[in-house]
Amino acid sequence: MVVLGIDIGGTQIRAGMVDEKGAILASRTIPTPGDVEAFVPSLQGAIGWLLEATTAPAGVGVGCKGIINPDSTRVEILPGTLHFLEGQCLSQLIGLPADVPVFADNDARVALAGEMVWGAARNREDVLMLTLGMGVGGAALVDGHLLRGHSGVAGHLGHMTVEPDGPLCACGNHGCLETVFSARAIEGAAWAAVHRGCASTLTRLFREQPQLATCRTIFQAASEGDELSQLIIAKAIGRLGAAIAGLLHVFDPEVVILGGQVAGKGDELIIPLQEEVWDRSRGLLGREVPLVQQEVADKSGIVGAAGLVMAPR
Ligand SMILES: [Zn+2]
Repeated sequence: MVVLGIDIGGTQIRAGMVDEKGAILASRTIPTPGDVEAFVPSLQGAIGWLLEATTAPAGVGVGCKGIINPDSTRVEILPGTLHFLEGQCLSQLIGLPADVPVFADNDARVALAGEMVWGAARNREDVLMLTLGMGVGGAALVDGHLLRGHSGVAGHLGHMTVEPDGPLCACGNHGCLETVFSARAIEGAAWAAVHRGCASTLTRLFREQPQLATCRTIFQAASEGDELSQLIIAKAIGRLGAAIAGLLHVFDPEVVILGGQVAGKGDELIIPLQEEVWDRSRGLLGREVPLVQQEVADKSGIVGAAGLVMAPR
């Protein structure tokens, strides 16, 4: 069986044919058009190319930012550059025959669907997933079902309030988890410190242009002994650990999967994070819930989207 996976991002749309083992047989990447009139022919053109290169798919899975109605594939809420998709049914925009089923959901939930089929959530019923990138995405598998909630918003773990008077978040709340732990939050803390002239490798390297200090360079500086970078990362990890401990108490998952570019730091992140989480949650749970890295290593989002078609419902 071959399935079409599509990831709709703010700058790029990636589409690919995926086989039963989760391997991408062929893929196309196109820049995301700026309006729906350009979006439809671009997307259908990419799909047409894939159909010629491979074979007709048994189903289509679509991952997209925002709030997607999984029953109708209608984009309910989508702020930002993809705002023009609001109110559109993705199944109609794709333009394949009506007998090809189309499944669509929020991109973080799609990442968890991929893990359910091919990765760390296989054969599990209770799993939390956090995608740690520029923001923090989240999804929850509860009693074998992807949690959606009353209006489709459930699982936005990055928008859990962790500091009532904290920084303003893009969602309008203050002190969401992603304002204190995300690549953007870590970089923001470093830029402010460089701007203030704090003693650090970062200040030496980036005094003229603090915004060139990326999350990667901050982790690098920390591993080379820079105390300021170590402090920034330790503080961010402490807050993430506190938040995850709270989530464990609410959801009681078998495992927590970490995805996204920051999770790619591996042991530098996972070991101190596990310690923080376990210290806070061992008492009530009586066990140490493993924190593991995402196993579906496809950064394009195509495989996760394909997983949406194959994931148990
Ligand atoms: Zn928020």
